Amino acid sequence: MGLYDTLRDYWGYTSFLPQQSEAISEIYLNHDVLLLKATGGGKSLCYQILPVHTNTLGIVVSPLISLMKDQVDDLRQKGIRAATITSDQTTDEKRNMETALKNGRINLLYVSPERFVTPRFIKLLKTLPLSLVAIDEAHCISRWGHDFRPDYRKLRMIKKIWPDVPVIAVTATATREVKDDIVRQLNLKNPCVLIGSFNRTNLYYEIRESANPKREILAYLESHRDVSGIIYCFSRKHTEELSSYLQGQGYSSLPYHAGLPDHIRRKTQESFVRDDIRVICATVAFGMGIDKPDLRFVLHYDLPKDIESYYQETGRAGRDGMPGECILFYDRNDLAKQLWLINKSDADIEYKEVQKKKLYALTRFCESPVCRRQTLLNYFGEKFTEPNCGLCDNCQKGTGKVDGGAYARKIFICVRELNGQIGLKRIVNILCGKEGREFEGSHSRKPRSFGSLMEISENQVMEWAVDLIFQGYIKRSGRKYPVLSLTEEGWTHLKAQKNAQIYLSKPRKSGKVLRGAQNRNLSNVRFNQSLFSLLRIQRDDIARRAGIPKYMIFTDPSLIEMAAYYPRTKDEFLKIKGVGVAKWESYGELFATVIVNFCEENDISGTDNAR
Ligand code: ADP
Ligand code: ZN
Repeated sequence: MGLYDTLRDYWGYTSFLPQQSEAISEIYLNHDVLLLKATGGGKSLCYQILPVHTNTLGIVVSPLISLMKDQVDDLRQKGIRAATITSDQTTDEKRNMETALKNGRINLLYVSPERFVTPRFIKLLKTLPLSLVAIDEAHCISRWGHDFRPDYRKLRMIKKIWPDVPVIAVTATATREVKDDIVRQLNLKNPCVLIGSFNRTNLYYEIRESANPKREILAYLESHRDVSGIIYCFSRKHTEELSSYLQGQGYSSLPYHAGLPDHIRRKTQESFVRDDIRVICATVAFGMGIDKPDLRFVLHYDLPKDIESYYQETGRAGRDGMPGECILFYDRNDLAKQLWLINKSDADIEYKEVQKKKLYALTRFCESPVCRRQTLLNYFGEKFTEPNCGLCDNCQKGTGKVDGGAYARKIFICVRELNGQIGLKRIVNILCGKEGREFEGSHSRKPRSFGSLMEISENQVMEWAVDLIFQGYIKRSGRKYPVLSLTEEGWTHLKAQKNAQIYLSKPRKSGKVLRGAQNRNLSNVRFNQSLFSLLRIQRDDIARRAGIPKYMIFTDPSLIEMAAYYPRTKDEFLKIKGVGVAKWESYGELFATVIVNFCEENDISGTDNAR
């Protein structure tokens, strides 16, 4: 059986996502791998597939019990032999687990970092055919990350004890400090570093200055009735206040913070994952454990700690690739609260200074007129040059500005070339390629800037040039026929770094579709909405009765494909994304029945949509 068979039979996919096959081949060659990629980018498959395919044992180190349990349940639904050892298992259960491991009946074992480093566990592992160790949420090892967990540091012993077993570390945190720290702390051997895109193309970002965030949140929930999400709050008190306010208004909501007893927290999380409650008002304590892929929104009632935290927290929306909305209710006064929190912590001064700098960067981000996506991605060192992402408040407002440094530069170059010779209208004409072929005046040749902004409309270039005059980079002088020249500042900018920022209004390209972000439509596939609803009812019903989260049965993208292609047979079902053999066996017929009945009732023939 080839790797693609394993991919299809267990996961129900026919191809790999970017970086997946590289990561898998590197591990296969026993190389260490560091994989940095956005949430929802498919990192887990990279370490899950090989142990399953080769019927060996892979250990996955994961920071939270709830997270491990969800992943194990999800894998089992796919027919994969996964398990976890946790402190709340009885001695008998643990012994059974050890026997299962020794008999080769487990391919993926999830453990906490604390358990991994116990002598007992190491002794057990030494007797087993270990094929890889995966470190999930690897940024926890770094104090520069947003979820520092000192126990992760002890994992450096892995490479000492098993120098030849490949280690794959994965995270959705991308700052350089964290990346370097992971490699150093884990003692990875010449690792293959794979960096995927951090662009979450299905997320909408908005920062809303608001005098009354409570009321706005209420209005938001009112218009998003049957979807679930998280509202992040600064303090325990806020989570409780906000949650009871929402409850009072008839919304199913619960608070979550580190001060609540363990069993309450666990219960809250479970009811959320199972859709018994829709909204969690949480502090950052509600974090990594949240693997629920169908969150449709993440709201920030208060300011987060820094840009990384903002990116991580918002990143929990839309893991399934369907649209997610991220709205931060911004109030400048929140800055003081966060500063207070930093100051009162018992970290050393150096660390506090770093935290403060990061906090200031976040407030600049909140107040900036630039595309949110662009700022976020640039922050993580990823270039994003789309003039308009189409899916953030600044890009949609129309009044929003983008970093137009590159455009401004072209205008400056043109002005410099013809310094003090011609006026605004003619500069614009030259940039747009309208005038210049037959250029008359002191030059007899075509200006070099001829057509350098040809792709932009004339009105737009005119608007920018005027804007640059207002901003003091270009000077207009001469009364009767004013001509343009660069000011001191214009020259400085031109000589300075290439990428210095200048804010300009967004370019309005002629009706071009956004490439940077997806539209907020449900999917690109055309599907039958009524059938989709029926399939959802079926799924939700099964989930409720079985007491498992809906997404573990089928995710919405799978149901959408069913509502587009009307599969009825096993073969047809296995072509649907996310339907593997085990899922077909457990649920296939129930869903096939819904489809067959629907087609009969609506007179749809079997071959209408079949692939
Ligand atoms: P991450 O761990 O990077 O946050 P996940 O591993 O949770 O991402 O995967 C995100 C989503 O992408 C999941 O719904 C997963 O099933 C899906 N996915 C992963 N690999 C593939 C693939 N090869 N083809 C299609 N979908 C995939
Ligand atoms: Zn944008």
